[in-house]
Amino acid sequence: MGLKLFNTLSRSVQEFAPLAPPKVGMYCCGPTVYDFAHIGNWRTFVFADLVRRYLEFKNFQVTYVMNITDIEDKIIRRVRENKTTLPEFTGKFEAAFFEDLKTLNCRAPHQTPRATEHIPEIISLIEKLIARGIAYKADDGSVYFSIEKYRGCGCNYGQLLKLNFDEMRAGERVKSDEYAKESIADFALWKSRVPDDGEIFWPSPFGEGRPGWHIECSAMSMKILGASFDLHLGGEDLIFPHHEDEIAQSESATQKPFVKYWMHAAHLLVEGKKMSKSLGNFFTLRDLIAKGYSGREIRYLLLTAHYRETFNFTLKGLESARQALMRLDECFAKLREVAGAARGEPDASLVAQFTGFLDDDLNVSGAWGGIFEWIRDTNRRLAERTLDATAAGSALATWHQLDEVLGVGAPEEVEVPADINQLLEARQAARKAKDFKRADSIRDEMKANGWIIEDTAKGARVKKL
Ligand SMILES: [Zn+2]
Repeated sequence: MGLKLFNTLSRSVQEFAPLAPPKVGMYCCGPTVYDFAHIGNWRTFVFADLVRRYLEFKNFQVTYVMNITDIEDKIIRRVRENKTTLPEFTGKFEAAFFEDLKTLNCRAPHQTPRATEHIPEIISLIEKLIARGIAYKADDGSVYFSIEKYRGCGCNYGQLLKLNFDEMRAGERVKSDEYAKESIADFALWKSRVPDDGEIFWPSPFGEGRPGWHIECSAMSMKILGASFDLHLGGEDLIFPHHEDEIAQSESATQKPFVKYWMHAAHLLVEGKKMSKSLGNFFTLRDLIAKGYSGREIRYLLLTAHYRETFNFTLKGLESARQALMRLDECFAKLREVAGAARGEPDASLVAQFTGFLDDDLNVSGAWGGIFEWIRDTNRRLAERTLDATAAGSALATWHQLDEVLGVGAPEEVEVPADINQLLEARQAARKAKDFKRADSIRDEMKANGWIIEDTAKGARVKKL
């Protein structure tokens, strides 16, 4: 059975048939780097990581692109408020984002283009839209996308959600990057420079200014993945206007279908309510780490619910996540003991059951149900001592395979080679003798061999790089 996914474009679950298999081009709207990403944002990024990992598990050759929005209304406001420069301000949050991505064990996207490094591509896309008579320069010096002209070409504005054009007032324009569907209006592609922009502007054939948020994603995704590509992901709050505008701009510039499958992660509630700073239920990933939870526990919790369900994220849920992971860890530790050096083949029927669930529009809850049933059964067999070394090795190999998709497995203990242990002892001796030069050179030698030293409260330990 093949993979089926819910496509927001058709509002139905469809067979996944990429344009040029086994290649898959996948784009996810990345962070707007004006603050630390919150747990609602992370739901989307962990979901995108699941999609990417599962496609790779199914042997697709994925090119995963996630943009960095480093120029946008909110960023400009914050740069002004903080009296700093754009690169300094966004650089800090971009670095934090990539650290957080690692904390949550998300595989790094293959490309992470920044909007500010794609101004020529953005300008050329706008020029195409002007040449086609779909974009126009208004009295305020900004360039807008004309919804009327677009619809006049027989194009459909409102592919991702139904829009009521009777409520639209002719000639209305919107310059801000975010607006509600009640205010369908011509949207800004290029925003002419205003005093509040300070030094943040670029020259262009339409005058000094900066790009609108929506055109950034069209320009970057098509530059890397081509005019038509397979998958576009994001949080459901991006459906309108951001994704609808991306479709309109891209399809009218290239006259080709933009994206084949649109996937959206549903909202996340925290403690039953919409996240808000005033309610005290607003958490960045860093807030949760500071409370003592691990990236692994947070990732696990985010991956327990189906991506199209509104998910209620709670601290109690994190406690249960901790318990669940402990059950897995305990079982795998026992299996490692029984297996010893024995290696086994993954259990094909378990892998097939897992694949069956995930093929069904990424039914992770079903998959977890199967995994925990298997853990129960394995624990029983371990207690009865009816599991031999090969069977234990096979169970471990099975988990290893499933965890390629889930990414929640604890790092396996790697055996440290004898020569590395000898080097560690020599380094400790050098440190004791206060010969720090020698200690450092041993440390460098170990690093060159792929091992790093961690000084912990219990003494020095080595870790594989
Ligand atoms: Zn985007």
